Amino acid sequence: MAINRAAQREALAPKEVSAGFPISKSELEAYFDCPAKYQFMRRWQPLVVNQELQDGIDAHAILAGAGGLPTNPRAIKLAGALGDLEAGYTLAEVGGQPWREQYQIVPWQGFAIRRMIDAGGWLKRTPVLIDYKTANWAWTPIEGIYPKALGFQPAMYLIPPPDPAPFKAWPERLDFLVAPSKGKSNIVAYERDERDEANLLEAATIVAEAKAFPKVQGWKCERCPFFDVCLETDQWQKKYEPRQSRA
Ligand code: SF4
Repeated sequence: MAINRAAQREALAPKEVSAGFPISKSELEAYFDCPAKYQFMRRWQPLVVNQELQDGIDAHAILAGAGGLPTNPRAIKLAGALGDLEAGYTLAEVGGQPWREQYQIVPWQGFAIRRMIDAGGWLKRTPVLIDYKTANWAWTPIEGIYPKALGFQPAMYLIPPPDPAPFKAWPERLDFLVAPSKGKSNIVAYERDERDEANLLEAATIVAEAKAFPKVQGWKCERCPFFDVCLETDQWQKKYEPRQSRA
């Protein structure tokens, strides 16, 4: 059985102490995909993830140098491609250690933003956050725009925390390092944008005030990690563990 390192990392994360409605980019995306999925995500942790996600989790673990490194050959290849892309940056360090996999809870506008920053550093003198993305296919632009770089994530990650260390001022740019299984690796840069921040605030407010969580059943259910609990399939309880409440 594949090990779910996301669950492992979550278990190691600091407990929430800040006031504010807790929200993460995954939860926001889930709510607007299917409100029921958001509800299940807050209550249940799948014990096993699909191969594509496992490859991404393992590639992140390799880059972070976590103990017991995965031997997954697909992840090793993806991590190598991401490492090549990262070579152009001066990576941040704290106390002689690489500044990686930083779990933060940031108070913002009545919310407690939860985010995991993969790495950060400087491109020449410009401070930059770095996010690793693995995918089946290369990211492609439409009219020069990369839609995949426009999710809630960059707006959420570029909100400054109370303490900007290891930077003097929190970066205004997030670079996605994209390593696909098929196609060319590339770097897609996102610059802080007030319109996206306003959109993020509207979206988070809708989720915080939501009173109903209907199921949006259809083709997306085929790839939904909460299919078993949602459809109450045979012995679904064996496929999840309860999450600590975040309400
Ligand atoms: S299985 Fe379908 S309806 Fe149920 S939570 Fe997932 S996407 Fe929503």
